[in-house]
Amino acid sequence: MQINTNPDSHVDDAVVQDLLARLEQLEQENLALKLALQSQSTGQDLYQHFLLHLPTPCMITSVYGMVMYANLAAADLLGTTPEDLNGMQLQKFVFEDHAILDTQFAELQTLGGPSACELRAIRADRKLIILRLEMVLLQVNGQQSCLGMQMKDITGRQGQLMTQAEGQYFANVVAENVPGLVAYWNSDLRCTYANHQYLSWFGRTPEQMQGIRMQDLLGEELFLKNIAYIKAVLTGVDQQFERTLIKANGESGYTWAQYIAHKVDDVVKGFFVLVTDVTLLKRAQQALVDSEAKNRALVRAIPDLIFTIHRDGRHLDVHAPDPGMMLQSREQLLQSKVADVLPAHVASQYMNAIEQALESGKLQEFRHHLPVAGRGEMQFEVRVVPCSQDTAIAIIRDITETERQRRAHELQLSERLQVRENDVRAIQLSLTMASDISNIGTWIRDLRTGELWASLEWRRHFGFSQDEPLSLEMAIQRIHPADRRQIESATGDYREAQAPRYQAEFRVTPPGEAERWLAVVWQVEFDEQQKPLLTRGVTVDISARREAELELGQKRMEVMHLARVATMGELSGALAHELNQPLTAILSNAQAAQRFLASPNVDMQELGEILQDIVDEDKRAGEIIRRLRRLFDKRSHEQHSVDINKLVLEALHILRNDMINQGITLLTELHDNLPHVSADTVQLQQVLINLVMNASEVVADLDASQRIIEISTRLTPENRVEVSVNDHGPGVPEHLGNKVFEAFYTTKANGMGLGLSICKNIVEASGGQLWCENHDSHAGSGASFRFHLPAAQEAAT
Ligand code: ADP
Repeated sequence: MQINTNPDSHVDDAVVQDLLARLEQLEQENLALKLALQSQSTGQDLYQHFLLHLPTPCMITSVYGMVMYANLAAADLLGTTPEDLNGMQLQKFVFEDHAILDTQFAELQTLGGPSACELRAIRADRKLIILRLEMVLLQVNGQQSCLGMQMKDITGRQGQLMTQAEGQYFANVVAENVPGLVAYWNSDLRCTYANHQYLSWFGRTPEQMQGIRMQDLLGEELFLKNIAYIKAVLTGVDQQFERTLIKANGESGYTWAQYIAHKVDDVVKGFFVLVTDVTLLKRAQQALVDSEAKNRALVRAIPDLIFTIHRDGRHLDVHAPDPGMMLQSREQLLQSKVADVLPAHVASQYMNAIEQALESGKLQEFRHHLPVAGRGEMQFEVRVVPCSQDTAIAIIRDITETERQRRAHELQLSERLQVRENDVRAIQLSLTMASDISNIGTWIRDLRTGELWASLEWRRHFGFSQDEPLSLEMAIQRIHPADRRQIESATGDYREAQAPRYQAEFRVTPPGEAERWLAVVWQVEFDEQQKPLLTRGVTVDISARREAELELGQKRMEVMHLARVATMGELSGALAHELNQPLTAILSNAQAAQRFLASPNVDMQELGEILQDIVDEDKRAGEIIRRLRRLFDKRSHEQHSVDINKLVLEALHILRNDMINQGITLLTELHDNLPHVSADTVQLQQVLINLVMNASEVVADLDASQRIIEISTRLTPENRVEVSVNDHGPGVPEHLGNKVFEAFYTTKANGMGLGLSICKNIVEASGGQLWCENHDSHAGSGASFRFHLPAAQEAAT
């Protein structure tokens, strides 16, 4: 066996010889080293073999620690083989204590050996051991050459090393970094170590603390108080207690300080005390205790049954405030599974909910019935929440009573509803009876679907049988053509509520029946979005009233006509009377003149006088007519503020029956918000009636569809209120021009020719103008008689 595997670190005989002398100095137990050196010097196999198998670990290294030889025990100590160790740096095996080894090497080189040290080493298998190294420097010719060393595992030998390396390490690394105060006390109760936190807490220096007696530090009273603890810890029983700790300078300290005293029974005998601030911990513990108590109280207050159930159906815990709800005793339940206790279909409800809750992490709810001994069929509401990975909590509430109450309440409600429905039906019945008696027809039309529902009476009004399907269009078809337009335009578009209520009067012709008059009132109802929803209305047969009115109207017209004739008669009588004189005078003068002219001697002067008389008399007649016209003028002096639209509607009301009798349709287009005009209301109405009467006379001979008179009002850009009466008659022949407005001009056989002339006077007396124009230049397209009046100062109201 060759020791030197590294040729650079060859140990020659001279070296060995020199060292052998030094070997004598080595202690007896350093046998291995001696043998190593011996074998090196002699090179005998026996020694080498012996060395290799020697149970004492030993090796030879360079002065810097490179392994040149290691025996089996040494390699084994470091968890490796001699071959692997060869050429390795010993430092590689040292844990943190390199300084110790380096110091040792330096000392050996300067002071020589032998020397020893203890250090922590890491074996090849990463195990930490504590090594004691004894070394000797092998010198050759005064030259440093190599180191012989013997190793010992002293890991099990606590104490000495603790005080040196580990003790130091503990003090430096652990004690100084512990979040608390640390102090060592020896068995004489003197302090041998205090960490910096301890020192700063009590405001002391290490020197002040070193060796101080506990009695002196604590004071006699406190020391005596603690003597029991101290004795206990010195007998080997660890002490742990809590109390407040105030800083030495009186500042507030730890509310809760935990004291731990632990005996150290090693090279140093004594104990150490560790004081840590456990205030937060204490508070947290207290809070935990409080909240646990609160939770327990809460749970106690919950009337529900609470089970903790494992995914596999085992009952893990039970909270049962009402034992009557339990199917088995608590103990039995805790030893059984859900499926053992509940009927299969209910158990599967539970198991499904648990599975779902654990999978989704969400609350699951369901209800079930269950017959419970002594309590009959009970109803439960179950909520399942996940608790941990494999457990869920099922909260089971008895809802038997609440369900019973709810059902009773529902029953009550439906009974009440039934009563209401009966009431409503009774009211409906009375309404139907009332409407039957009063001949009122009712209808409702759904504006979204167009569906029309109508009462029997309504069907009777329009001539529909009881089961006939209805529609608005069908009903309109039965309305008199002349009245249809007003109904069609009113029912056309309800998008904006034009009026809260609509009303109309019209004729209907039910098939095979006589024409009848209906009055109708209806309203539109809107939904929340203000969209028209339905129309609801009533119809009343007003034929009888209408007939009476028509008859009355006819009578009135006859009277009016008579009055007009009488007035005209009176007027013409007065005219004849007034004109009689001048005309008689003119006649006799003219006859006298004739006679004069027939005589052979014409007295020219006389003739001249006669002719002068004739001229004078003619002037007088002219004057009479002018006076008559002034008479009309005088009548127009009662000026009022007049709402033209209102006046038009009133005039139409007077004329309406007459127009209906003649089959004439009156249409209006009245402009809103017109200013008032200043005029004599009665006279202005007369003007309008006159114009409409004239128009009615010209359209009377036309086809029914052409018998239309339109009356419209508007405000002109010159701020005048204009009224026009349009017809579809032949119009006014162009060559006549304004002649129609002259007094006594008429084209009618029995016309007076005064109407338009009087109208013109009335309009002009109020500061207005009356004129006529044909719709078109060619005849037959109708005439338009118009007048306008200046707007009065005050605005329309
Ligand atoms: P009367 O009606 O007695 O004839 P008016 O003064 O009211 O007297 O009418 C004078 C004339 O004006 C009528 O005879 C007629 O020739 C003509 N006239 C009046 N209104 C119209 C009309 N709407 N269309 C055509 N001509 C008309």
